[in-house]
Amino acid sequence: MPQFDMIVIPPEAAEGHDVVEHVKGSPAREGGGDESYRCGGCKTKLLSNVAHHDAHGVIVHCGKCGKYNTEPHHHHH
Ligand SMILES: [Zn+2]
Repeated sequence: MPQFDMIVIPPEAAEGHDVVEHVKGSPAREGGGDESYRCGGCKTKLLSNVAHHDAHGVIVHCGKCGKYNTEPHHHHH
C-alpha cells in the first residue's frame, strides 16, 4: 500500500480551489483504493486507502496543524 507525504502550500494558493476539510481524529476521505496520504506538516493521515483519482488534484486542509496540502504526484518544481 503506497503512502505519500503531501506537499504543503500557502493558504493563498488554496484560494479558488475545492478544499477538503480534514477533521482531527479521522481521515478526510477513506476507502476505495490502496493509497494513503499524510499531511506534509504534521504527518497526520489525511486520506486513507483511497483510489488515486480521489487524491488527484485535491487540496486538503489539515485539521490538526492547519496547513494546506496538495497531492504530490503532479507537483512541478
Ligand atoms: Zn497537518
